Amino acid sequence: MTSPDRAGAVLTVDLDAVAANWRRLNDRLPAGSECAAVVKADAYGLGAGKVAPALAAAGCRTFFVAHVEEGVRLRSLLPSVAIFVFHGPAPGTESDFLAHRLTPVLNAPDQIERWGRFAAQRGGLPLEAALHVDTGMARLGLAPADALALADDRRKLDGLRLVLLASHLACADDPAHPLNRTQLRDFSAIAARFPGPGRSLANSSGMFLGPDWLFDLARPGAALYGVNPTPDHPNPMAPTVRLEGKIIQVREIDTPQSVGYGATHRAAGKERIATVAVGYADGYLRSLGNRGSGYLGDLRVPLVGRVSMDLATFDVSAAPEDAARPGAVIELIGPRHTVDALAAQAGTIGYEILTSLGNRYHRRYVGEKEAHERA
Ligand SMILES: *Cc1c(COP(=O)(O)O)cnc(C)c1O
Repeated sequence: MTSPDRAGAVLTVDLDAVAANWRRLNDRLPAGSECAAVVKADAYGLGAGKVAPALAAAGCRTFFVAHVEEGVRLRSLLPSVAIFVFHGPAPGTESDFLAHRLTPVLNAPDQIERWGRFAAQRGGLPLEAALHVDTGMARLGLAPADALALADDRRKLDGLRLVLLASHLACADDPAHPLNRTQLRDFSAIAARFPGPGRSLANSSGMFLGPDWLFDLARPGAALYGVNPTPDHPNPMAPTVRLEGKIIQVREIDTPQSVGYGATHRAAGKERIATVAVGYADGYLRSLGNRGSGYLGDLRVPLVGRVSMDLATFDVSAAPEDAARPGAVIELIGPRHTVDALAAQAGTIGYEILTSLGNRYHRRYVGEKEAHERA
């Protein structure tokens, strides 16, 4: 872990804000419905080791990860919550699921067979599983016809206990998209053929489509971490991360010259360039070149020139000299410049900004009773 003095930037993660976001989402659910948390990809880059326990302390009982390895790590932190693994059981990992009490999401006929065979070899109590039905992604999940065939002939589910039936929305961030209703209709039709297991359809944005999409269990990820689940409306979630990049040099330009690789920015006259120790190797995306911006105090400062591997350059000509100096910080993500705003400048989504957050930053975790540093 990089010390604050050595690091080029400080990333502050507000665990209270993550917990508050979970409560806010949980409050949207009708009685009897449960709000889970998706903590795959290291809790979207925020650090699952800190975020997941904070969510559990807030009351979250069910977690989702993508890889079995993520599940194994999460289990070591949270002995008593339910952990589902989206990718399901790969050959050779069955006993890992059992040893760490991870519930596989079964996505395809071969995974159902594999988990069923494992259950048969073991004998004893049925093994828990979730079943994922594809209703519009063509990515993971049983094709609807295969799901209906399985409902007709359940022998493949012998030895298994389905605890969850899930599907995933393709266009939930666009409430007007007709696919939302089509997926709801198809999921409901399939769910009617699988009585018993809880049903789960909504991701973050899906939780804002209306009560019909909520079912028994919601699976938000991004909204927990402050990404706006309703892109056409003000963000109902609290921001959770702040990224402050350190200025390591201020370059005074007084005769016209260019800035950075490719000479893509040209200072026509006097200009002051603050060079910050954050670059694309830290997940500060190269596509921000000549488009991004940050805040020096309350002053918006444009990113000029290309983003390099370890550095980015900002035009701080409008700032007082004592504000733009080595050691001062430029807010790259924070209350003035949200994850979504940065993502828009980079031509991507908040999800990619968060999951790209670099490991050279000094990470500070605040909230959850006292501020603490990651070891
Ligand atoms: C990642 C993921 C989620 C969470 O989605 P968000 O948009 O981040 O809320 C839910 N379900 C599945 C299957 C996922 O892969």
